[in-house]
Amino acid sequence: LYDDFYVKSLIRSVEDWPKPGINFRDITPIFSDPKGMRMVADAYVHRYIASDITHIACIDARGFLIAAVLAYELQKPLILIRKKGKLPGKTISQAYDLEYGSAELEIQENSVKAGDNVLLFDDLIATGGTLLAAIELLTSQGAEVKEVAAIIDLPDLGGSQKLQDRNIPVFNLCAYE
Ligand code: 5GP
Repeated sequence: LYDDFYVKSLIRSVEDWPKPGINFRDITPIFSDPKGMRMVADAYVHRYIASDITHIACIDARGFLIAAVLAYELQKPLILIRKKGKLPGKTISQAYDLEYGSAELEIQENSVKAGDNVLLFDDLIATGGTLLAAIELLTSQGAEVKEVAAIIDLPDLGGSQKLQDRNIPVFNLCAYE
């Protein structure tokens, strides 16, 4: 059974990392705690087991970890959206702004197509810039993003609101104001 208190106890806050003024929510203790890892992964399995999702897309790199477990359990294709220069072959890229700095995401050409119903997964939603860039990549290939799933939402940074403004539902396990 999902235990909010237990999962939150595994999320560590690191002040002034990676830059002064940033309070980084570190989720690596979830991955090193087998009970926590299973609890988190099972929460998504439970939510999506009976959904009409056809593909799971996930964002480099912490997004991969839970999404891979979910894809395995649901027996759905897993699509990797990666930082620039990591994916071989023909790719499509999308630049975006981060809470700190800017970057570029890429997807391999023809990894999704019209008619695909994608669940997009990342570890955390801050300004939403990363997820919006990933959504742009998926929708430019004709796919539909049915829902965004994350472990943590930081609602004060506005990202989850931006997604909802685009009629994309957001499912997160916890939030920090
Ligand atoms: P956004 O694009 O929404 O501003 O930032 C979200 C992206 O940055 C996610 O890919 C996430 O991995 C990373 N990120 C930003 N802040 C944090 C944080 O406090 N903790 C973690 N784990 N990731 C963060």
